[in-house]
This record gives sequence, structure tokens and C-alpha cells, in this order.
Amino acid sequence: MRILIVEDERKTGDYLKQGLTEAGFQVDLAREGIDGLHFALTEDYDLAILDVMLPGIDGWGILAGIRRAGKHLPVMFLTARDAVDDRVKGLELGADDYLLKPFAFAELLARVRTLLRRGGQPATDTTLHAADLELDVLRRRASRGGKRIDLTAKEFALLELLLRRQGEVLPRSLIASQVWDMNFDSDTNVIEVAVRRLRAKVDDDFQPHLIRTVRGMGYVLEQPACD
Ligand code: CA
Repeated sequence: MRILIVEDERKTGDYLKQGLTEAGFQVDLAREGIDGLHFALTEDYDLAILDVMLPGIDGWGILAGIRRAGKHLPVMFLTARDAVDDRVKGLELGADDYLLKPFAFAELLARVRTLLRRGGQPATDTTLHAADLELDVLRRRASRGGKRIDLTAKEFALLELLLRRQGEVLPRSLIASQVWDMNFDSDTNVIEVAVRRLRAKVDDDFQPHLIRTVRGMGYVLEQPACD
């Protein structure tokens, strides 16, 4: 499997290239937009990982060029935390996924594998569901049983992560790195408090309860098996 990375931040680019190469992928790294677009158009890749802000042509320009050339390879954007507009724009332009910087490599690898499995299918998961819970990622809206639920930015990010990884027990360390800029050693009380608040909004008044604590491991969002 061949992956193209376009990233001008030297450290991030090298880290990505090394990690993905070690994971068994054939990786090309371009550090400028124009080189990235050239690679994307002249070589055959199974996936492109694009930074948004790049010298020359930015990530949007590369994506537009790829799609204009009729290439359907999946594209993942690396975007700055809280750059919600970037994410919306990316998905509207035909990106398949995005990952917030800074990210844990394990998370990136999981997303890469999912995208490669899905192939060049357009993203259909801009609205995420579990039971009657619905999260509209593009419009930043949450509802359950048709009732609108107001979430803070962090609660939204947390719920989005849980929904995207439905059925998987997510360790606190992963949640910390994805939703907060915290590393493994940080105080996980912040996460517990946020999960409690999120549950109060999306679970307490509804059936079935979707968010579950797995003692000593983390949290999982899943629909309980039917009796
Ligand atoms: Ca950049």
C-alpha cells in the first residue's frame, strides 16, 4: 500500500513517514504543496495525508487538484485543534477524514487502516448515530430522540470520538490526547468529569444508556445487546 504525506513541519513529516514505513507502508513525503500535488498526480497512491497550511499550494488546493484529475484515493487532512471551519471545508471538498494535531500515532494508524479498508468511497459518516442519538459533525449539532442537545466544544469532541470508535474501549490516555492536549501522565480527573457531564446530557434521561465505564480501562459507547 502506498501513502503520500504532504507536511511542511519537518518533525511531524519525518515522524509520520517513519511510523508508517515501520507499519509496512510504502511512503512518499513531500514538504511543499506543489511537490505534493505533483506526486499525487503522477504516482498511484492508496491514500494521501495532507497538512492544510503548506507553502505554495495548500492542502485544499492539492485535494481539489486530485479530485479534478478524477482520482478517488482517500484523503485525510491534518488540521489544527478547534479549526472547525477547516474540518467542515475539508469534508465538503471531498476529504474522507481529518485528524486533529497533535495526534497519537496509534490513532492515526487506526484511521489510515479504516480508510484503506473503505477504499475510495466518499465519506458518508458526517452524521454519526447510535440508537436514537445523532451527531451531525458538519453542522455541529447533537440530538437524541429528536431532542436537540447543547454540548460544549470538548463534549462534542468527546462524543464524536466515542461515536466514531463505537464498540471499542477507549483508554483514558487516548481520549486525553485526542480531546485535550494532555499526555498519558496527566490528571485524568478532567476526563471523568467531562464524561459525567456528557452522560448527564445524552444518557441520563434516555434509554438505553450508551456510554459505559470499563473499570481500569476506559470508556466505550455501544448499544447494549438486546435481551
Ligand atoms: Ca503546515
